[in-house]
Amino acid sequence: MTLGRLFILILMTVLTGLTFPASNASGAAPVRPSIRFVKQGKITYLYLRDVAAYYGMRYAISGKTATFTSVYSRLMFTLDSRIMTLSGVRVHLAFAISRQGTEYLLSISDFQLLIDPILRSTALPRRNIRKIVLDPGHGGKDVGAVAEGALEKTINLQIATRLATKLRQRGYTVVTTRGSDTAVSLAQRTKIANKWGADLFISLHCNAADASVSGLEIFSATWHGTPPTGDKVLAKDRCPANAFDRENAYLTYTTQKALLDATKATDRGIKRRRFSVIRDITCPGMLIEMGFISNKAERQLLQQANRQDAIAHAIADAVDKFRVALAPKPTRR
Ligand SMILES: [Zn+2]
Repeated sequence: MTLGRLFILILMTVLTGLTFPASNASGAAPVRPSIRFVKQGKITYLYLRDVAAYYGMRYAISGKTATFTSVYSRLMFTLDSRIMTLSGVRVHLAFAISRQGTEYLLSISDFQLLIDPILRSTALPRRNIRKIVLDPGHGGKDVGAVAEGALEKTINLQIATRLATKLRQRGYTVVTTRGSDTAVSLAQRTKIANKWGADLFISLHCNAADASVSGLEIFSATWHGTPPTGDKVLAKDRCPANAFDRENAYLTYTTQKALLDATKATDRGIKRRRFSVIRDITCPGMLIEMGFISNKAERQLLQQANRQDAIAHAIADAVDKFRVALAPKPTRR
């Protein structure tokens, strides 16, 4: 086991090539506290206490729970758990919170690819978001989830149609992978986005499980060298979408927050898995599970015009936030 201490500026530059905020008025670079790190097995962990200090947040431990607080956000981590909450949104970590003596530890992947992009969106790569591909899941013979006569493919298309209208009204150029009840292969869906040079890809789905289960969850592609949510097997290779891991963290978090605010649905969190449509795209992207068709109350809501509209509106708002967060900085005169 090795213990180290590095200035985060150096650490981040080496590991991500990340650029830091411009120097302040006096010309001096902003001083950020250093973050200690330690290796356990093959995973590098950061001292959670130092991460809180890095953001200037108050740090407290109570039993198995570590909390960061500031006037803007509140983060809660639990020892040995892969689930944390960030300002009320459930966030799935790649690796469980570990410990070194009395200090709690966060994996460096979770810091760099999840927590930091959400807390410090100003450091995300600049990119224009204009061309959006909407991907209503399933279609034709592939009906998706079914319950009591409700077909997932139909709900996905209805909400995608509403969302396309809203996005076009806000000035985006929108292409849908299907505009009617037709079968489109998974490969064809990513091909449409990649050939067109989409700036953002959004796949819309509904879930099915035990009738008691309900709620919203959003997926982006599993990061290289980490396990998908709910699994322990590490993704050995990189996939095209991994070029946008940091953007996807901010995108999925912002969208989940907007959807929860709009629907008050159960929060199943932001997760990672390599579904082919979000794995093979060459732009930021996510797959939204908008609710459970197998749950009676949620199924009825998902078929209602006002719920569909609320979902579409929340996603459009999140897209706007994402666009603004990534907007290229105006050139100085
Ligand atoms: Zn589906």
